[in-house]
Amino acid sequence: MLDARMADQTSTILGAARAALDAALDAGRKTTRQGKAIDEHQVHAERLAYAATEVAAAEALAAYARARHEAGVGDAVTDAMAGAFAAEVADRLRSRIEGHREDFGVPDAVLAATLGDAGVRQAVRAAQHEGCFREIGREVIRTRGANNAWIDGDVAEMARDSARQFARREVAPIAERIHRHDDLVPESIIRSMAELGYFGMSVPEAYGGQGMGNLAMVVITEELSTASLAAAGSLITRPEILTKALLKGGTEAQKRRWLPPVAAGELMVGISVTEPDTGSDVASVRCRAEKGEQAGTPGWFITGAKAWCTFAGRADVLALLARTDPDLERGAKGLSLFVVPKDAFPGHEFEVKQPGGGTLHGKADATPGYRGMHSFTLAFDRYFVPADHLIGEAAGEGRGFALQMAGFAAGRLQTGGRASGLAQAALEASAAYAAERKQFGRPIGDFQLTQYKLGRMATYLAAGRQLTYAAARAMDADETITLEPSMAKLYASDVAVMVTQEGQLLHGGWGYAEEFAISRHVVDALVLPIFEGVKPILELKVIARSLLAG
Ligand SMILES: Cc1cc2nc3c(=O)[nH]c(=O)nc-3n(C[C@H](O)[C@H](O)[C@H](O)COP(=O)(O)OP(=O)(O)OC[C@H]3O[C@@H](n4cnc5c(N)ncnc54)[C@H](O)[C@@H]3O)c2cc1C
Repeated sequence: MLDARMADQTSTILGAARAALDAALDAGRKTTRQGKAIDEHQVHAERLAYAATEVAAAEALAAYARARHEAGVGDAVTDAMAGAFAAEVADRLRSRIEGHREDFGVPDAVLAATLGDAGVRQAVRAAQHEGCFREIGREVIRTRGANNAWIDGDVAEMARDSARQFARREVAPIAERIHRHDDLVPESIIRSMAELGYFGMSVPEAYGGQGMGNLAMVVITEELSTASLAAAGSLITRPEILTKALLKGGTEAQKRRWLPPVAAGELMVGISVTEPDTGSDVASVRCRAEKGEQAGTPGWFITGAKAWCTFAGRADVLALLARTDPDLERGAKGLSLFVVPKDAFPGHEFEVKQPGGGTLHGKADATPGYRGMHSFTLAFDRYFVPADHLIGEAAGEGRGFALQMAGFAAGRLQTGGRASGLAQAALEASAAYAAERKQFGRPIGDFQLTQYKLGRMATYLAAGRQLTYAAARAMDADETITLEPSMAKLYASDVAVMVTQEGQLLHGGWGYAEEFAISRHVVDALVLPIFEGVKPILELKVIARSLLAG
């Protein structure tokens, strides 16, 4: 059904896009003095970061289409998606460069030889023709949007199958109830996930984990998030973050103490970085930890406010970033990361009173979506933790920021999986609805515009997914990377917002009804570009900084 020249066309388009982007990045490095002056060029830096992320997504999707052919499972729909997505990305990049010529600083000759070239422009027009998207859309309706993305690797494929069975059997039937009643994730789900080893996917076997690797972790996350973002897919984010921080900076004794129960799902984890007055500027965290002693045990007294600590009620331990050096001028260098034990509470409000007088109060903030784990505002007052709860102990003092960021990189990769899973749920619901809903005497899926929309939704989802898989493979090879997981988080989150909202429109008025899952998917997706680095901060402080520093 699809043009056999597609692969050549796609590589022509991508070659041109990459060359133009590289020229823009070169110019951007000069303008921002190797990334040091990003704040003087924020708008342009954001454009560069986003364009680079889109080109990386297009390259990941094209590489996936090629790999399928090499493995003897080439697929015309995937080829069309790769071509159409590359074409839209190239078209947007050319218009951005044309629209801001002086800022982008791409020499005329470079633009003319790349995205301005007549052959490239012809390839772009052909590949992004609405007919290509409609053809993809018809296939999406026929298969009801099923995710059968080929995965190169038996472990990941088996992991996906078993996670899908579990998620459909145990999570999907209760997802709507949890959302509408703002219930807590039931213990039965936590227990089943623990038995399946989902809390220990990144924990090495030596510490009681599965050591499955990042790709398997991502595909499992996707399946859980397709059933419910909050009541399943997000449960593993927190242990992932703490695990990576402990592996990077914990003492051997700390790894042996905390990792096995985290991997076994015996300890639920909350991550507490954000404060009421401190969000993106993590280096300015104010919650204090003061050295002291309680009943002869040396340790730290924690005092201060924290905000948006998801799952803090049910959690048994909080990974808490606090200021151990009272001198605010020390910024990030004055922060340390603690493992803070607390009792688990099922409700929306709790208080822990320590025998020595310390207290921790928590109250959940009501949210339109992402329900099931609840996000708490916390108040600590001389809450005591022994000295060996500071990750890295004496050597970890002042290293909290770096350890937290290492944890966040893992969290962002996992969020690429969460976002793709949520977008998948919206695509499946929309494809099924388009096949069933009749207007003007025909299923709405028979209309050209519906097919085009579904084709675009599926194509963008495929790009976000492949960017995330590529980041997972890159992280399997090098755990210290930060750019790739950040790009995956940024893009897959935007795709989830776009796909859920387009899906809601396809549902018409019923898309606004709570009985239809798409209304939940829309509000759930909205949180994805906010946490783990709100979108503008991720673009400027992580992606642009990394791209422009070279
Ligand atoms: C449902 C939910 C769950 C969450 N769970 C957790 C959790 O478990 N643990 C945790 O620690 N946190 C959590 N968070 C907090 C989340 O990580 C923060 O909300 C996020 O990092 C942004 O911080 P902020 O809300 O203080 O926004 P701010 O930092 O105030 O930023 C707001 C806006 O200001 C602008 N801005 C800020 N700084 C700059 C700049 N330098 N340049 C340009 N523009 C700028 C941007 O437009 C930005 O979007 C959660 C949040 C939500 C909503």
